[in-house]
Amino acid sequence: MPLSIHQLHSVFVGEVGGIDCRKPLDPEEVAAIEAGMDEYAVLIFRDQDISDAQQIAFTRHFGELESYNTPGHIRRREDSRLAPGIADFSNLDKHGKIMSDEDRVWFFKLGDRLWHSDSSFRPIPAKYSLLSGRVLPSWGANTEFADMRAAYDALDRRTKAEVEDLVCEHSLIYSREAIGFTDLTPEEITAFRPVRQRLVRTHPATGRKSLFLASHAGAIVGWTIPEARMFLRDLIEHATQREFVYSHSWRPHDLVMWDNRCTMHRARRFDRTEIRDVRRTTLAGDAPTIEKIA
Ligand code: MN
Repeated sequence: MPLSIHQLHSVFVGEVGGIDCRKPLDPEEVAAIEAGMDEYAVLIFRDQDISDAQQIAFTRHFGELESYNTPGHIRRREDSRLAPGIADFSNLDKHGKIMSDEDRVWFFKLGDRLWHSDSSFRPIPAKYSLLSGRVLPSWGANTEFADMRAAYDALDRRTKAEVEDLVCEHSLIYSREAIGFTDLTPEEITAFRPVRQRLVRTHPATGRKSLFLASHAGAIVGWTIPEARMFLRDLIEHATQREFVYSHSWRPHDLVMWDNRCTMHRARRFDRTEIRDVRRTTLAGDAPTIEKIA
């Protein structure tokens, strides 16, 4: 069966049929998926019962895996249940037990329920993320996506001109502070020092502009903090209006792939006494969003 993509939402998101993500792809399939990502920004692959190694191999068709020495999600490598290359986004500890609601890893995970783009707090933010749903709770736990191209397009002309050259500062410190989690170690504060990102990005393949926002953004260069925070809050509210948002209701073995350069996403609540085992691979971005500032 040839690869097909069926649009699921009025402005973005496609469901891909006719593909087995466990097998090596041919160049035509890779090209069709990349074209689908350029058009839909989020692709859903149903019924993909893949292993971690297969997920990594599938991901690498589209670029290099992101790798950093400093932890982003604070779950240290030696504490992970999973092999290098795949990140554990479950609510399980290294022994496979549901983590305590007082676990610091859980506090970090709760911050993922704020709208964000993966690794926007890193100097070179991520390209695609791929999340595989292995075990899912009986209620809640949707992942919501917002189309930041549509959000940009819908800005009025004055706001477009205002945001065009703005540079924001992103840090995990800002997004965790937003949920009252401020108990960071000196090492974490050093590792999470803010990085600069353009507020408006142009997609390298399509030339479409989008807003590059996240709850990690806590400052705008040249603005006072209150003015910046209020404007960023307004922009996120604008960008996450229902008409720009798709809510993904997970089925076991769904594989969801999104372009962090032109979407935001957030996790939703679920019953934390049930297991949610989801695993992520992440593709490195090509370049910083700003030229190096001396
Ligand atoms: Mn995320």
